[in-house]
Amino acid sequence: MQHFPIFLDLDGKTVVVSGGGEAALAKARLIMAAGGIPTIISSEIEPALQNELNGAARFIFRSPKQTDFGAPIAIIAIEDGELAKIYAAMAQSQGSLVNVVDQPDLCEFNVPSIIDRDSVTVAISTNGASPVLGRRIRAQIEALLPARLGDVATFAAKFREAVKDMIRPARRRAFWERVIDGPIANAVLRGDSVAAEKQMLAELNTFNAEALRGSVHIVGAGPGDPDLLTLRALRLLQSADIIFFDRLVGDEILNLARRDAERVFVGKAKADHALPQREIEALMVAAAQAGKTVVRLKGGDPFVFGRGGEELESLRKAGIEVDVTPGITAAVGCAASVSLPLTHRDYAQAVTFVTGHAKGDADPSLDWRALATLNNTLVVYMGVGKAQQISAQMIAHGRAPSTPVAVVENGTRANEIAVKGSLAELPRIIQAAKISGPALLIIGEVAALSDADDLISIVGDHRSAA
Ligand code: SAH
Repeated sequence: MQHFPIFLDLDGKTVVVSGGGEAALAKARLIMAAGGIPTIISSEIEPALQNELNGAARFIFRSPKQTDFGAPIAIIAIEDGELAKIYAAMAQSQGSLVNVVDQPDLCEFNVPSIIDRDSVTVAISTNGASPVLGRRIRAQIEALLPARLGDVATFAAKFREAVKDMIRPARRRAFWERVIDGPIANAVLRGDSVAAEKQMLAELNTFNAEALRGSVHIVGAGPGDPDLLTLRALRLLQSADIIFFDRLVGDEILNLARRDAERVFVGKAKADHALPQREIEALMVAAAQAGKTVVRLKGGDPFVFGRGGEELESLRKAGIEVDVTPGITAAVGCAASVSLPLTHRDYAQAVTFVTGHAKGDADPSLDWRALATLNNTLVVYMGVGKAQQISAQMIAHGRAPSTPVAVVENGTRANEIAVKGSLAELPRIIQAAKISGPALLIIGEVAALSDADDLISIVGDHRSAA
């Protein structure tokens, strides 16, 4: 560690700022954000600075003298390097700690990159070596810390005394972990302070008597690209003790989980379930009852053809605390990835998501007449194996054979394949592009707008009505 980080209480205290330009203004803003009072000393002070700080700062309209310094902190924000050196020496001789903007050699302290969540402050320093790197790190941490994180700290502070009074010392840490990692902090982060306080009071009254309970978070992992995870999904992955994941969830996403979290594959390939649904549910109940924070990670969104509803119900029945985090569903992810607007004022006033899944050779039992209406975009999940029937039924129920369709396999992933053609050609598209992975069929005029490859570019110019 090259420098020693500390957090100063500036509330009501003076900080001397030598300089009257942009750099001085930037520092004055920071000082004021922390409750300090800047004293701006400069023979020239820009009107913009004067206007903004008027009433909040003190001004001395001349060059600084030795006796102007003496506050614990001084910031020199002027362009003339030689003069800056002289002022820095003056301030030091008066016992101030000095920062000289853009002159690391003259600094006794650096002003870090700051992430501000009220009571939670994160400061980053590269010791002046690379401000750009500092900003990059800051952006990464910003993304990890929920916007309402400060509210969680404030909420915790509010209950600190009550917890001291009511929770046995040996269990206090476990209590706080439960609050911070569980539904109470989640409620605060959602902005639902009423629910959070209600749950907190209930928890305070029952915690001593109870064995430690865990909880289950049913989390949508999105269509594959880890960039499309929600921030909440990422946060939950990093607090999980154990993760139950599906076939559709890739390594890139699992690698974002807490390093020592246990990972359990329970994924289903159609007709070849790795674990029956009941067993998956029983495993989750057992883990939660053992006090673990369980994440049930599902491809796309848990409530879109994801059996999230069933899992939610059976976990609730077993008395487990459970909540749901949405994910970007495949239809939405794939559409964006191939520039296909699912609705469009000129072509599609509705969009319908259906599953093509059906037992054996049977047709999916769908209301084809309704689905075949014009101006509807139809998105079929799990429809590859039934493409022949889907195409035939749609045409039989009145959709034109020339209606554009797009097939997107492994959408948003590195191995994405997207091909478009006509409804009549749908089975041929699948055959020609050798679609075998998870894929969506998107049927409707809007498919023509997508930048999927044209079937012709794959099979040559010998189209036939499939
Ligand atoms: N809950 C998921 C859907 C699960 S059903 C969601 O909201 O997306 C599984 C089907 O989703 C697959 O058979 C396929 O039709 C579709 N699917 C999931 N991920 C996909 C992807 N990256 N590209 C194309 N289709 C995908």
